Formats: sequence, C-alpha cells, structure tokens
Amino acid sequence: MPDTSPAAFSAASPVSRRFDAIVVGAGIVGLCAAALLGRHHKSVALVAPALAAFKPSDAQRFDPRVYAISGKSQRFLADIKAWDALPVQRVTAVTGMDIWGDDTRNDALTLRARDSGMEAVTWIAEQQSLLDALEMVAKFTPGLIRVMDRVSKLECLSQDSAGSGRAWRLQTASGDVLEAPVVVAADGANSAVRAAALLDFAVEDYNALGVVGTFRQELAHDGVARQWFLGSSVLALLPLPDQCVSMVWSMDAHQHAQWQRDDAAAMARRVMQAADGRVADVTGQLQPCGELAAYPLRHGVAPLWFADGVVLLGDAAHLVHPLAGQGLNIGVEDVADFAAVIEAGFSDAALRAWQRQRKAGAQPIHWLTHGLNGLFRVELPGAQWLRNTGMQMVNQVPALKRWLVGQAMR
Ligand SMILES: Cc1cc2nc3c(=O)[nH]c(=O)nc-3n(C[C@H](O)[C@H](O)[C@H](O)COP(=O)(O)OP(=O)(O)OC[C@H]3O[C@@H](n4cnc5c(N)ncnc54)[C@H](O)[C@@H]3O)c2cc1C
Repeated sequence: MPDTSPAAFSAASPVSRRFDAIVVGAGIVGLCAAALLGRHHKSVALVAPALAAFKPSDAQRFDPRVYAISGKSQRFLADIKAWDALPVQRVTAVTGMDIWGDDTRNDALTLRARDSGMEAVTWIAEQQSLLDALEMVAKFTPGLIRVMDRVSKLECLSQDSAGSGRAWRLQTASGDVLEAPVVVAADGANSAVRAAALLDFAVEDYNALGVVGTFRQELAHDGVARQWFLGSSVLALLPLPDQCVSMVWSMDAHQHAQWQRDDAAAMARRVMQAADGRVADVTGQLQPCGELAAYPLRHGVAPLWFADGVVLLGDAAHLVHPLAGQGLNIGVEDVADFAAVIEAGFSDAALRAWQRQRKAGAQPIHWLTHGLNGLFRVELPGAQWLRNTGMQMVNQVPALKRWLVGQAMR
C-alpha cells in the first residue's frame, strides 16, 4: 500500500498526476535528483517503496553500509541542505589513508590530509543517516511528491493526456498512474526503467562479493582509513566514531564460499591474521559490533545515458568496484552536473553535453578500480615486484602524494 502521509501522493490528493519529471528510485542518488529538480521549481514525483530502515542498537551501533563521501559530493549535499541535516556525531573526517600492497615486507603508502593543507581526505557517513537527511530534505521541497510504491509499468506515449507532446506514463504496483515528459532512472544496477527505455547496459560479473561488518579496534585509528591489497582480495577498514571501523573485504566467490559460515567474531580473527598478521599490528584486537553482510560485485556501464526523455543516474548508468569507494560519489556527481540540463529545459544538446562530461568524469574511476583489481590479481613472474615497487616509489614523492590526496577530495 502506498504511504498516505501528507507528503505522499494518494488518490484523494489534489495534486496533479502530471509532473515535469518523475524520479524512480529513492536511494541516495534518486533522493538527490528529486531535491535538485524541486529546487529548480520543477514538479516532481519520487517513486520508490519504503525500505526497512536501519535502527542503531547496542548490538549494532552503526549501519553496516557506510560511504566515503568525496569533496564534490559533500559540496552538493551541503547545497541541497542535506549535509547539515546529518547527525554530526556520526560523521567521521578521514585524516589520511594507508595503503599496503601484497608484499607484506613493505611499508604502507601513506597519504595525509594535513600534508596538503586539508582537514580531511574524505568523510565516512552511514547509509541510513544519509537517507534520513535526504528524506527530510525531500519532505520540505516544494513541488516534490513522494510516492511510496514500486513501479510496475512504464510506457512511452506519443502524446500525453493533455495532448502536449511525448510523455512517459508510469503505473505503480497499487495502480496509481503518473505522467511526465522526463523520467529519471535512479533505480539502481538492475534498473527496470533502463530496460523499459530499451537502453543497454554492458555488465561484467567479478564473481566476487564485498563482505561488510563493523568492529571496534583496540588501537586508536586516528581517523586513518586503511586498505590492504591481498592478491585476490582487497580489505579496507574505514574509521567510524568511538574507535570503531567499518570493514569492506572484497573477495572472490570461492573464498567467500569457504568463509560463508563465519560469524562476526570469526571474521574479526581473519582480519587480524590478514597480511601475515600485519593488520593486527595496526588494529590490535578487534571486537565485532554487529552482523556481517555480503554484496555481489559487478562492473558495468550503459553506452547511452539518455534516450526519449529517460535519463540514467547513479548505478543505473554505471557500476564500479568498491575498492576506491567512488560508486555513490560518481552518482551524486551525475546529479550535481545535471543542474545544467534542468536549466536548459532538458534539451537534447544539454543532455549530450552532460553525458559527455559525466562519462569523462566517471571513466578514470572505472579504469582505476577495474585496473587495480586486475593488477593485484596478476600472477606473472615479476608482477608482484612491479606493483609493490611502484607503490614504494609513489611513497617517496610528496608532490605526487599531495596530488593523490587532491584527487580523493576533488
Ligand atoms: C560493499 C560496497 C561498498 C561500497 N562503498 C562505497 C563507498 O564507500 N563510496 C561510494 O561512493 N560508493 C560505494 N559503493 C557503491 C554504492 O553502494 C552505489 O554506487 C550506490 O549505492 C548507488 O546508489 P543508487 O542510488 O544509484 O542506487 P541504489 O542504492 O541501488 O538505489 C536504488 C533505489 O531504487 C529503488 N528501486 C529499485 N527498483 C525499483 C522499482 N521498480 N520501482 C521503484 N523503486 C525501485 C530501490 O528500492 C532503491 O531505493 C559501495 C558498494 C558496495 C557493494
């Protein structure tokens, strides 16, 4: 059943069922897109079912899904008034990054925000905090109607019901019918809107999973995010408040199958033993603070990001490996740059320029994550020496390290 709260659409609502735009998907990208459209005085329906919200408890204090938020995403969230709505005590400024290659005798590549005159390399925020802040923004955005329902049908009409040109007619699972000339697909990697608009998506399954969980460290993390390339897997520990860390361990399906029965305590032991036990040198003892979860990892991109009034944003347009923590950031940046398209009245010329700009912005992340993931899997003679020596060389060049920090904060 759709939500019938005042902010939501209902059969009795006096609000027109024709909108300037419909956004499908209320993940972080969809909520950002709807807020942006509303700020540009467009009438917009945001359609997605209400999902079970994460609620902190003593057993699970932090959402197992957290995001590293880039400088550009942070500025956009601040512009639409979502950043200030985040609970400040649950957002962690990342003061630096330590990255180890797969030769455990080597030192880490160390990047520090202060060496570049910055306060933070990135920020870590929980998914639920971001969703709550954005739902709050949506609620107070004039012209934005929240439809708590799933899309069941989408068809393109040569004329809308008022006879004023091409439109998309969308039907929700409970039978509501909405119309708009523009539909924003922010419904994630398996986008049904993308399929309805006959837009392709070239996807490659890594046959791997990202295992997430939260631990409390014995040793202070000092706000430093840490990452270990471990051959066929990549382990990241992202700093959270109160000496907790959020783990993202990307591993192939075979390794995951062997460890599938591990509870969080067993996984904490595996983390401490990783990199020949050198992880424990920096974390000390790890105590689990909640359950584990696992997400399939894929790489994908749509050749075309718009057609006939449908626009793809976020994971509906591109999927990247989480090792650089950039998938959501690229999506939020898609939205930030979409302002120019709205200002140009959704013209094809503006959409083409936006697509060009966004593909250029997203491509380096695709290459970096896809390339790094591949590079650390290469088992040819000398490959391990080459990649680890490369990292050690970068570590000796302060200017290059400052550039890398600047890229992380871009
Ligand atoms: C383990 C892991 C760690 C990650 N860490 C990071 C990180 O640190 N930083 C980062 O930038 N990125 C990270 N990512 C990537 C990030 O999770 C995604 O890029 C991001 O969540 C995509 O957001 P989205 O809003 O586009 O899609 P989604 O979050 O998938 O949201 C899609 C929305 O569409 C709705 N929907 C789907 N179908 C329908 C339908 N038929 N009708 C209506 N609604 C529908 C869903 O309910 C949902 O609300 C990580 C990914 C993984 C797997």
